[in-house]
Amino acid sequence: MIDQNHQDMLRELVGENNFKGANALALLDPGKNAQSLDAGVAVMPETVEQVSSVLSFCNEHSIPVVSQGGRTSLAGAANTVDGQLILMTNRLNKMIEVDADAAVIKLDAGVTLQAAQEAAAEHGLSLGINIPSRGTATVGGMVGTNAGGLEAFRYGVMRNRVLGLEAVLPNGDVISDMKVVSKANEGYDVKQLFIGSEGTLGVVTKVVIKLDPADVIGETALVACPTTEDGVFLLRAAREFFKSDLLFFEGMWSNYATLGAKEANFAAINQLAETDPALYLVVETSAKAAPIEDFLAEMFEAEKIVDALIAKNESERRMIWHIREDSFVIERNFPPGFPFDVSVPINHLVDYANAVEKELAELDESIVLIMLGHLMDGNLHLSIKSHSDISQHQAAVKKIVNRNLMEIGGSFSAEHGIGTEKRATRQKLLPQANLNLMQLLKDTLDPKGIMNPGKVL
Ligand SMILES: Cc1cc2nc3c(=O)[nH]c(=O)nc-3n(C[C@H](O)[C@H](O)[C@H](O)COP(=O)(O)OP(=O)(O)OC[C@H]3O[C@@H](n4cnc5c(N)ncnc54)[C@H](O)[C@@H]3O)c2cc1C
Repeated sequence: MIDQNHQDMLRELVGENNFKGANALALLDPGKNAQSLDAGVAVMPETVEQVSSVLSFCNEHSIPVVSQGGRTSLAGAANTVDGQLILMTNRLNKMIEVDADAAVIKLDAGVTLQAAQEAAAEHGLSLGINIPSRGTATVGGMVGTNAGGLEAFRYGVMRNRVLGLEAVLPNGDVISDMKVVSKANEGYDVKQLFIGSEGTLGVVTKVVIKLDPADVIGETALVACPTTEDGVFLLRAAREFFKSDLLFFEGMWSNYATLGAKEANFAAINQLAETDPALYLVVETSAKAAPIEDFLAEMFEAEKIVDALIAKNESERRMIWHIREDSFVIERNFPPGFPFDVSVPINHLVDYANAVEKELAELDESIVLIMLGHLMDGNLHLSIKSHSDISQHQAAVKKIVNRNLMEIGGSFSAEHGIGTEKRATRQKLLPQANLNLMQLLKDTLDPKGIMNPGKVL
């Protein structure tokens, strides 16, 4: 635990109300990772000046600092241990400013994605970034992890949406680059350093995000494909048929979709399930799109789909999305296993999915492979589960899942970040020169290594 003297000084820097010790922290929700509050000491600065004074104090006294937004990291990036200081951003949440003419939104880092989305929607605009944890995840955390999500195939990931930001370096210096324009070539683009760095280089305090006209939702369908190959065929066909009116295209392999539907009592899926599809797709179009039925009829004719359900009303639409987004259904039904988040080039997707399935079954027939993902990006979330103990297979499973992803231009780490979970894999799979450059940047910006130690590098 940070010694009492230092705790008292930190309390003074942020004020009594913005300081929390172990007892107060015990009342908070640790979020996705039980270890996120283990440090037992937290500050909740309200201004960039407070962030700056906390960081320079911690730098001087070599106190490690872990920034936390919504604690929804799926890679253990916000975990803490005894002796560290948690810097919570939830009180950096005052600024939500939409400039409808410039089509930008300025946000304090602790604002949740949902609050930002609602503010933009009042002006008929959208952030072009959408993740299922929207109610809790903060924009600062999304910068930290370079979040991707459901709309990335149309608008890019966080890195492509951020126009400007403000961040505090470990020595307390404030880097201010609150650009509201897309074009600004002023030398190295330093804001990009903080995007995806998972709190290891500094604390992001403000963000400017580009907005686009909000889409008006048209139709939503749950589509049953006999094989993964058919699903990939639909991916291209849907893009060509609907063009920019295709809003969402998500994939759920059969065991995931039926598990979710069962828990949610969504009986309407039963008719689709009877056709024994390998893959379900969630396809959503804009109000301007051609009728989804026309597309599905073409696909049925071509024998690429076996059945489909077009949502008849908002509650059916919500149910389809609930099944897709409530991925914790996996955790509720299986003991811990091995989660992966990979990017597969589309032209390799079928071979990849088939090979992984086959090799995992050969490794241990008790293994259950559960897959879903943002299919249009080739971003798959794999959960390798079993009701038996498969801990002895960890290395073999990793090898099967990560296989030749780097060689074919994919990635072992798509959108959830490295955190603690993928450090060893990163060390193994990235070229040494790339690792060296990242370490050099880290050592330069954070010579004492106080920012989120034990993560990423
Ligand atoms: C149900 C569910 C669905 C999800 N779906 C997606 C998805 O579709 N796509 C996707 O990309 N992710 C998804 N995620 C993962 C997660 O929501 C994202 O990684 C999100 O960006 C984390 O935001 P957060 O505020 O919770 O950050 P935290 O979990 O609190 O922190 C994440 C990392 O960012 C750092 N950080 C936090 N705030 C700051 C700051 N102000 N400055 C610097 N560093 C900071 C932390 O130190 C940590 O390293 C999902 C998570 C859940 C639980």
